[in-house]
Amino acid sequence: MSIQLKDSSLLKTQAYINGAWVDGDEGTTFDVLNPANGERLASVASVGAAETRRAIEAAEAAMKSWRALPAKSRSDVLERWYDLMMANQEDLAVLMTAEQGKPLAESRGEVGYGASFLKWFAEEGKRVYGDVLPSTADRRSIVIKQPVGVVAAITPWNFPNAMITRKVGPALAVGCAIVLKPAAETPLSALAIAELGERAGLPAGLFSVLPSATASAVGGEMTSNPTVKKVTFTGSTGVGKLLMKQCADTVKRTSMELGGNAPVIVFDDADLDKAVAGALVSKYRNSGQTCICANRLLVQEGIYDAFVEKFTAAVNEFRIGNGLEEGTTHGPVITEKAAQDIHQKVESVVNAGATVVTGGKVSELGSHFYEPTVITNVTQDMSLFKEEIFGPVAPVFKFSTEEEAIAMANDTEFGLASYVYTNDLGRVW
Ligand code: ADP
Repeated sequence: MSIQLKDSSLLKTQAYINGAWVDGDEGTTFDVLNPANGERLASVASVGAAETRRAIEAAEAAMKSWRALPAKSRSDVLERWYDLMMANQEDLAVLMTAEQGKPLAESRGEVGYGASFLKWFAEEGKRVYGDVLPSTADRRSIVIKQPVGVVAAITPWNFPNAMITRKVGPALAVGCAIVLKPAAETPLSALAIAELGERAGLPAGLFSVLPSATASAVGGEMTSNPTVKKVTFTGSTGVGKLLMKQCADTVKRTSMELGGNAPVIVFDDADLDKAVAGALVSKYRNSGQTCICANRLLVQEGIYDAFVEKFTAAVNEFRIGNGLEEGTTHGPVITEKAAQDIHQKVESVVNAGATVVTGGKVSELGSHFYEPTVITNVTQDMSLFKEEIFGPVAPVFKFSTEEEAIAMANDTEFGLASYVYTNDLGRVW
């Protein structure tokens, strides 16, 4: 294994169930690869439905005393966990870049951001107030808030740290227990977080991590087990819909953060430099693999050519490469297949008449790298207008009027994020 950590005990390859590091019942494993070079980083235990069931049972048992603690005591554990994550920020960042590919600076940032959820919810957990409602005659209505019960979480590979802590933090802070299935591409970050949780004093069973090569087996148990009262998921719309359906039989609460198709609207009166800088970050952060990434750049006709020129010049300055190497601004995409999928989307609009201004192909650096791409002559009837690209490809659409821009922005089934650049405050509102 080629991950150099200051504290090598943060590199865990077994599942973490009921406070113990264990292999899967079947003894099977799956490989975690470095997307920058295809190198095998680790072979990780793969669990299925039976281990998931045991983790859920352990969670239910652990929750009994955890929920009875004063909020301050739960908060203290989360605060220590936050401190440990920050003390180990560099190691967690190195692990993340190795398995996910993003540049080290971005990984450091994500670890800080991820840790902040533990701190925030440690604080908020002490402030779970109820309500007294006006009611009729001689009655008084009082609302109290109680932990919902055992929570199951399924998380994606694009933010292997923060997507976990933002689910685990609130669940634990209010007295729930939580079982987690991290994405198979990035289990190492999740397991390291669990190790730090244990060091912070988290009682056994409250937080189990279930790495698996068979997501549907773990997900099937999580969504059908009556002990699980809530499922929280961040990932693709298709899998989210499936999980909601599976949760229907036991009428579970669900929280879903699914796909996006974010527009970035740039009006003629925008500050061009700010619009370009903002659109670059929104589009290319994590090599375009975030759910709130700019998916459609909508630029008004008066500023269109100047925008495309400046934007493209900046894109051409990017240095793609291994995220662990100094100077790398953008890493690989998650898998070879992801690079191929992105390329298919580009080819389909090029065949429909769009123009590639820069990029437009898999990089010579290797099959996991896609060249940062800018595309013009794209129209609303082309596939890229509707599809989530999830890669470093920016289609720049042209519009004439504000009404047209708003209609274009809203012409999507998604509603996750949108961005606007203009200096007209009235228009902003
Ligand atoms: P992406 O296309 O970004 O990988 P997915 O929705 O496929 O998005 O993956 C997000 C998470 O959902 C991952 O942890 C993945 O393992 C998990 N997942 C995928 N399919 C299923 C399923 N059938 N049941 C439960 N979890 C699943």
